[in-house]
Amino acid sequence: MEKIRRIKVVDILRMTEYGKSVNVKGWVRTKRGNKHVNFIALNDGSCIHNLQIVVDVPEFPEELLKKITTGAAISVTGELLESQGSGQAVEIQAKEIEVLGVADPEKYPLQPKRHTLEFLREIAHLRFRTNTFGAIARVRHAMIFAVHKFFNDKGFVNIHTPIITASDAEGAGEMFRVTTLDIDNPPRKENGEIDFDEDFFGRSANLTVSGQLEGELAALALSDIYTFGPTFRAENSNTSRHLAEFWMIEPEMAFYDLDDNMDLAEEFLKYLIKYALDNCLDDLKFLSKRLQDEEKNKKADERQMELIEKLRFVLENDFVRLSYSEAIDILKNSKPNKKKKFKYLIEGFGADLQSEHERFLVEKHFKKPVILTDYPKEIKAFYMKLNDDGKTVRAMDILFPQIGEIVGGSQREEDYGKLVGRMREMGIPEEEMWWYLDTRRFGSVPHSGFGLGFERMILFITGMGNIRDVIPFPRTPKNAEF
Ligand code: ATP
Ligand code: MN
Repeated sequence: MEKIRRIKVVDILRMTEYGKSVNVKGWVRTKRGNKHVNFIALNDGSCIHNLQIVVDVPEFPEELLKKITTGAAISVTGELLESQGSGQAVEIQAKEIEVLGVADPEKYPLQPKRHTLEFLREIAHLRFRTNTFGAIARVRHAMIFAVHKFFNDKGFVNIHTPIITASDAEGAGEMFRVTTLDIDNPPRKENGEIDFDEDFFGRSANLTVSGQLEGELAALALSDIYTFGPTFRAENSNTSRHLAEFWMIEPEMAFYDLDDNMDLAEEFLKYLIKYALDNCLDDLKFLSKRLQDEEKNKKADERQMELIEKLRFVLENDFVRLSYSEAIDILKNSKPNKKKKFKYLIEGFGADLQSEHERFLVEKHFKKPVILTDYPKEIKAFYMKLNDDGKTVRAMDILFPQIGEIVGGSQREEDYGKLVGRMREMGIPEEEMWWYLDTRRFGSVPHSGFGLGFERMILFITGMGNIRDVIPFPRTPKNAEF
């Protein structure tokens, strides 16, 4: 028989050339039937749907059919037929079947049933084979593409900022060290301290927590730039929203004030949501159903809005913008604060907002995404622009339902004197940051930027509850197996 070109399932499902010979390759999800006819559900990851393969049992050796079990990889050549059964438009009548890779049914960990997400995390190398993780991987890809498209269409320049950095200005205490020193026997100075002069870079180095500072250097020459890279935090927060290794998108724009910054961030988030609705609807429908099944046992008032409805709702409504001080007033007088339901009670100005407070504002009070601005300088980074009140900085955090903080950004302090003043107050070594301070010495301009945690955005778009389930290989405390 002549070699027939392989066609992906996603494309076969759209074909109408009935009678045509096609070849398809993929992994068996299920095989059912009787001694006359078998039905194989085949999936190749190209879409959420399976392709039905119809097998006339007497036409194939029993030995071959026995090897076709859940998880096995097969190649099928056959005739494209209009489907008789409901659910799919076409099916394949098998003429030739080749088993490419067997999967011992006694040992294959995935059964044709729903597994818990916790169990799947223990077999992360195989979870791509499930509907849920296939859908998430495709949505994640679409969002990566949409991020680049959004900024490219606006004339932003993508900058690769370093993954290894020697500055720890931002991440004090939260950074992973990078070293080639012998940890059993490191070189020491006379006073007993480890001598990092002997280390690979001639100084102590870490994995980056953010590309922002380097991004600012580029923005103050190219006007509009963005970074999209991995960031690392050694914070021991074992939550459903924190990873030790995650991806961050950080645009930085010269000549933008805080309002311009918020406008861009809101437009960007809505663009990503619209892109997902326009391009990933089949996967979103599957994820929506998954979420509804999961929430069946919850009380009606604890259930989330249906996923696609929620995405449309965020798309169609303006985000609420208010200051941190206004938010504190709302929180202080809120029911959960008065009834001491919050774990951290809000006493007044100065409190660092926890995710319980952020979610109260978004889910209970405003019922919309919220942008909070003008936080107390004490709880924000040194580079944020000081307001005239001398107390607050031009920060903005965007808060989303179920997530809490999804974006953190600010207008940056462009004044050299004020910036150095803040660094001294906060104990940040000026000498080490000379390269950053140079931007404020030569042609400094107002500029702004923000960081979007990519996995938090994927959490929101997929409706998943745990950040470990929206990145293929999660890195969290005590977990780096795969
Ligand atoms: P949080 O208070 O939630 O820990 P943060 O204030 O430390 O966040 P930033 O330093 O402002 O966050 O980082 C920018 C964005 O990166 C956040 O808005 C969030 O979306 C994301 N982010 C921060 N830390 C993590 C993490 N450990 N894992 C995944 N995403 C994160
Ligand atoms: Mn954090």
